[in-house]
Amino acid sequence: MPAKKRCQLPGEPRCNNAALRIVGDCAHCHSSFCATHRLPEYHACLKLAECRQEAFQRNKGRLESERTVAAKIVG
Ligand SMILES: [Zn+2]
Ligand SMILES: [Zn+2]
Repeated sequence: MPAKKRCQLPGEPRCNNAALRIVGDCAHCHSSFCATHRLPEYHACLKLAECRQEAFQRNKGRLESERTVAAKIVG
């Protein structure tokens, strides 16, 4: 049996809680976290900014295409 994994919260102070198995794994940065820090918002997930940026770009692109369609209908 491997030793229990600790929460991999980056920075200080270190989190001493045991990481949760499976549900504690962040799908974005692939680190393991405790129940408190498993959500991207709570461990300052490195990938969260990237994900947000992607969503923002996707949304922006969609809004622009919608505007183009609306302009065509109007004009
Ligand atoms: Zn933690
Ligand atoms: Zn993460």
